[in-house]
This record gives sequence, structure tokens and C-alpha cells, in this order.
Amino acid sequence: MAKIAGESGRGLPAKGQFKGNVGRVMMKQEHFMKEAIRQAKKAYALDEVPIGCVIVLDDKIIARGYNRRNTDKTALAHAEIAAIKKACRAVGDWRLEGCTMYVTLEPCQMCAGAIVQSRLTEVVIGCMNPKAGCAGSILNLLEMDRFNHQVQVTRGVLEEECSVMLSQFFKDLREKKKEQKKKME
Ligand SMILES: [Zn+2]
Repeated sequence: MAKIAGESGRGLPAKGQFKGNVGRVMMKQEHFMKEAIRQAKKAYALDEVPIGCVIVLDDKIIARGYNRRNTDKTALAHAEIAAIKKACRAVGDWRLEGCTMYVTLEPCQMCAGAIVQSRLTEVVIGCMNPKAGCAGSILNLLEMDRFNHQVQVTRGVLEEECSVMLSQFFKDLREKKKEQKKKME
């Protein structure tokens, strides 16, 4: 995938910039996935598993979140839950109809449940999580016919960047542990 010329990954897209063909949809998805990656890097900086997400409405980011499970000492502090809370505050409603979530890693069962409950229209995923993902890996809670709401799902946007970031994190972690062990000896 070619890089977007002049793309800083930071600024919001100009209004109407992303309307039109498939290429533009991909550009838009990559633009917002980069923003989700920026959030994941905040988690990385706190020694948290680097997972980040943003929620977009009308081509504007209305909420951001990143994993803070160890920092906040709660299993509820996943990136998606934090962003859903903020998005609800931003729109003044528990329903997030018309919103799209961009998340660097496939959501777990808790977050997939929260996504369905909050009636998000669409979820765009970076890389999949075969060991815990509930958007197609272990379960697919987002697209189950038997629930009253189904979410549109796109997978594999900036997949490599998202998965390299995770494997780098776990590699760092293993090295840190090894060094700690050495110091103890
Ligand atoms: Zn989760």
C-alpha cells in the first residue's frame, strides 16, 4: 500500500476529502488506523500491551482510547471501553449509531459485547487476535444474526504495522525479564 503523500498522520482530513472510490475508502481507513496506532503507542510508553482505538463520526474523531489495564488495575480498562465511554459523552447518547471504531487489535469478548450494545455501525480492525479475538477468531460477536444489532467489520487495515508493534512489545518484555533475572543472580 502506497503512503499517502504529505500525510502527517496527525491532522484531521479535509471535509469531503475521502468521499468516492474504493481507493479513497482505503486511504480514509489507513488515516484513522494511524490515529489508533498513535493511541496504542501511549499504552506502549506505559509498558502496557499496545492497543489503541479511535471512534469516528462524520469523518471526525470524537473519542480516543488506549489500553491501561495495569496502570488502572482493572480488566475493564481496554482501549475500546475507554473510547466508547468518551464517545457517548461526546454525542450525549448511549447509542453510537453512525460511528466507526478503528482499533489496532481484534476486540475481546468484553469489548465486542460493548460494541454491539452501543450499536456502533462499523468496526475497522488492524490485526487479528487468534487467542482472544471475538470479531471472527474465536467467536464473531459483531456479526451474529441472532443479536438485535450487527456491526459492519473490516479486517486487516495496516495489519503489519499493528502486529509488528505487538510482537516488538512482547520481545522487549521478554528481554526486560531476562535482564531482571540476570540482576537477581
Ligand atoms: Zn477488550
